[in-house]
Amino acid sequence: MRVLLVDLPARDGIVSKDTVVGGYGSRLLPFSRVTTVIGALKRRMHDVPSVQLAYIAGILAQYGHDVVWSRGETPPADIAIVLSSLVDHKHEAAWADEARARGIRTGFVGLTASKMPELFRDHADFLIMGEPEAAVQRLARGAELQGDCVSEAIDDLDALPFPRWEFSLTARPRFALPGAGRPYGGGIPLLASRGCPEFCTYCPHRILAGYRARSVGNILEELEALCRGFKRPYVIFRDPLFSVDRDRAMALADGIRSRGLDLRFECETRIDRLDPELLDALHGAGLRAMSFGVESVSGDILKKVGRRPTPEAQHRLIINHCRQKGIATAAFYVLGFPHDDWASIAATIDYSIDLGSSAAQFKLLTPYPGTPLWKQLGPKVFEKDWQKFDGFTPTFEHPSLSARELKFLLGAAYTRFYMRPSWLADWGRVCTPAARQAFHRMDVPVARRHAREELSLMRRAVTC
Ligand code: SF4
Repeated sequence: MRVLLVDLPARDGIVSKDTVVGGYGSRLLPFSRVTTVIGALKRRMHDVPSVQLAYIAGILAQYGHDVVWSRGETPPADIAIVLSSLVDHKHEAAWADEARARGIRTGFVGLTASKMPELFRDHADFLIMGEPEAAVQRLARGAELQGDCVSEAIDDLDALPFPRWEFSLTARPRFALPGAGRPYGGGIPLLASRGCPEFCTYCPHRILAGYRARSVGNILEELEALCRGFKRPYVIFRDPLFSVDRDRAMALADGIRSRGLDLRFECETRIDRLDPELLDALHGAGLRAMSFGVESVSGDILKKVGRRPTPEAQHRLIINHCRQKGIATAAFYVLGFPHDDWASIAATIDYSIDLGSSAAQFKLLTPYPGTPLWKQLGPKVFEKDWQKFDGFTPTFEHPSLSARELKFLLGAAYTRFYMRPSWLADWGRVCTPAARQAFHRMDVPVARRHAREELSLMRRAVTC
């Protein structure tokens, strides 16, 4: 059997799919000078191949089937499996229509096909609902997939074959970008665990299946295989909460070092699941960048969406330690929680600057189908186009901020974070207190200018 694995690049904006936003994906349509520059960088650094499709490739190859990757091409095949997303579902459905017209049986995988099958049913012969491996194993053994196919989550992740990569997808030209951890050209994604044991009500990472982790030995074997296949690979751990188990993270770092694996990697985690000793061990094993959610400066606002706040001292300890070690840090923020107002969002933007991570990502709160937040805010959702659930578009009636105000605050967050002299010190990991203070003094007239521009556009500056 010849199977086409289809990961379509979107036509508009900078789109990330696969495990991003749990599988719903995100789309940045640049809306300011700063987001235009960020978008240009993201286009090459964040367009990494799909690890979900690579797992499917591994299973099909195990059973002797022929696998072909597609970025939109339609070579002859018996079956096509298309990676679904919310932000680009119309394009994916249109591609499936064409493939079926050419006689290729076509199905969809991913969170969106699983939770919003109505978007794909008229365009598919089958939908794989759930994590795909169990259904793909049935397909590989000769079963015909038809209609809605429930695919049970695999408890023992070590039992799965490793993701199988096509060389052309992962061997793109890569070069280090000064200050950035991830190289220009991206890296190879790896899932050391799936799901998340936390309870943030807005998070789509918890929808499809519960938290499960692979054994350290199994992960090390995959890393060894990557080091055999690629020269000094850059590995992107796509676990939503990489260091939830400190002993396991420490054992992984020790294993990478003791096996002499020559690789670099990045991961995403909660900042309260880190400490300097663990960071030192991970850095010694190749950690060069890490990302974490700060979300909001207000602990009360976070508690109302089920998120455990992290003490400010811990934020500062970890970010300062990363700066000293030369590890790039990216902090995530969410603007527009139900209890946010203008002042709390302005305070969050101030806090993002004060913390001094190398990069920051600001998004608007989005109620994704399948989350507890969706149940809570469903009646207030006014956006009818699912593709606009992209993380940057207002989608529901906020109790105290208009859609225009939210979009304005989002733009101001990016401008204020990146357009200031001290960001150069943060990006360049300047550690000397005197030098950092000098940069922050230079921020003062720049912040006044931002306030003047904000007043001219909105009659209100982004101050708390
Ligand atoms: S910590 Fe919260 S936001 Fe992060 S992956 Fe887990 S549930 Fe989602």
